[in-house]
Amino acid sequence: MRPCQICKQVRSVAPVSFHRNVGMIVARRTYTLRGELCKSCMNRAYGEFTWRNFLQGWWGMISLLITPIYFLMNTYSFAAARYRLRDALE
Ligand SMILES: [Zn+2]
Repeated sequence: MRPCQICKQVRSVAPVSFHRNVGMIVARRTYTLRGELCKSCMNRAYGEFTWRNFLQGWWGMISLLITPIYFLMNTYSFAAARYRLRDALE
């Protein structure tokens, strides 16, 4: 049991890293979230990173390639973290 890095409550946490891309035609930006999060914060963060990727990710050549890769990486990280917390209470 350690404090969650988002809500600061001491709960069962697992490490996750999420990425999202913001495409801007010729440029792009990447946002990364890395930390030990509790179940409900990782649900929220995963949801936010997923829809922002779909909303803002596609606008550009490289972005078009990177957005689905980020989506897969996030999903993998999320699934692994959920598996580690499978017995944890919400
Ligand atoms: Zn939390």
